[in-house]
Amino acid sequence: MTSLLDKAVAAPRALTHRELAELLSWPDVDALFAAAYEVKCREIGRVVSFRGLVEFANVCEKDCYYCGIRKGNGKVHRYCMDAEEIVREAEWAFKAGYGSLVLQSGELTGEKNAAFVEDVLRRIHAFGGDDFGVTISLGEQSEKTYRRWREAGAHRYLLRIETSNPGLYAKLHPADHSWERRRDCLRALRRCGYQVGSGVMAGLPGQTVDDLASDIEFFAAEDLDMIGMGPYIPHADTPLGKDASWTPELRKERLELGLRMIAATRLHLHDVNIAAATALQALDPEGREKGLLAGANVIMPNITETRYRADYQLYAGKPCLNEDSTLCRGCLERRIAAIGETILWNRRGDSPHWGRR
Ligand code: SAH
Ligand code: SF4
Repeated sequence: MTSLLDKAVAAPRALTHRELAELLSWPDVDALFAAAYEVKCREIGRVVSFRGLVEFANVCEKDCYYCGIRKGNGKVHRYCMDAEEIVREAEWAFKAGYGSLVLQSGELTGEKNAAFVEDVLRRIHAFGGDDFGVTISLGEQSEKTYRRWREAGAHRYLLRIETSNPGLYAKLHPADHSWERRRDCLRALRRCGYQVGSGVMAGLPGQTVDDLASDIEFFAAEDLDMIGMGPYIPHADTPLGKDASWTPELRKERLELGLRMIAATRLHLHDVNIAAATALQALDPEGREKGLLAGANVIMPNITETRYRADYQLYAGKPCLNEDSTLCRGCLERRIAAIGETILWNRRGDSPHWGRR
C-alpha cells in the first residue's frame, strides 16, 4: 500500500497520470503529507523563505468569474498606490530581512502602466540590487513588456494558469479571456529569463481529480520553477460565488484538497519552490503552517499598508486585514518556530530547480 509513496519519494517526475490521481486521493492523508515533507526537507532543508507581498492596486481590466476584484464588481472601492508608497514598503521588507518581495495587482496593460511598473522596479533595484529577489504578478502582458520589466530588475514572475483544462478555463472566464494566451505568456516569461511560477486553484466547480493530476503534469511539462496554488474560495459578489454553498464541512474539505495538491506536487516535482498560499490561512488559522508540513517552502506575508487590505479581496474571509506588517512578522516567526522550521532571513530563496537548469 505504501509503495507508491516510496516510489514518489525516491525519484522526481516518475509518476504517471493514474499514480498522481491516486496520490491526490490517498486514503492515509497524514502519510501523504509526511512523504511530501520528507522530500521537501531533503531537497530544500527544514527552512522557509519569506516574500513580502505588496498588493499595490486593485484596478483590473479583466473579469474572471471567481475573483472579487474583477472589473464587473461595482462594489469595490478601487485604489492604486503611488510609486513612493510601493517603494517604501519594499524598503521595509528589505530592511526587515525578508530577502524578497512580490508586487501584485489586477491586470493593467498599456504604456502608462508599463512605465509606472518599470520606474518602481528601477527604484527598488537601486537599493536592493540583485540580492533582493523581486517577483511580479501582474497578469498577461506582451513579451516586450515582460522583457522591459525583467531589465528593470524583476527576477521572477507569477502567473497562475488557474486550471490546465482549457474547457474548464472557458467556463470560468468570459469569451475574450484565452487559456492559450495565458500558456503562451508563461513561455514568453521563460524566454525573457525569469524564474517562472504558475499554479491553479483547487476545488473549482466542475474540476475533477483527473484535472488536478493533469495540472501537476502541466507544471512538469512547462518545467516551472515555482508553484503557487490555493484552494478556490467563493466570493459572494462574483458570478461564480454568488450562489455557492459554503459550509464548515466544505471549508474543511477544500483546505484538505489544497494541502493534497501541495503534497502531490512536491512528490512529483521535488526541487521547485512551492508557496503556502494565504488562501489556506483564510480557511484555517494554521493553514499556512499545514501547507509547510505538506511540502511547501515559501510564505508570502502581506506587507501592504493596512488601510488598503480590505479593498484587495480576491476571495471571502481574507486574513490579517487589520494586523500591521510588524505584528505579522512576529506572529509568523513564532508559528514557524513552533513547527521546527527556520526562516531564511536576508536570502533570495531561489528555486533549486531554476539553479539546476
Ligand atoms: N491579476 C493577476 C494577479 C492577481 S490575482 C492575475 O490574475 O494573474 C492572483 C490569483 O488570485 C489568481 O491567479 C487566482 O488564482 C487567485 N484568485 C482569484 N480569485 C480567487 C478566489 N475566489 N479564490 C481563490 N483564489 C482566487
Ligand atoms: Fe483580475 Fe487577476 Fe482577479 Fe482575474 S484573477 S479578475 S486578472 S485580479
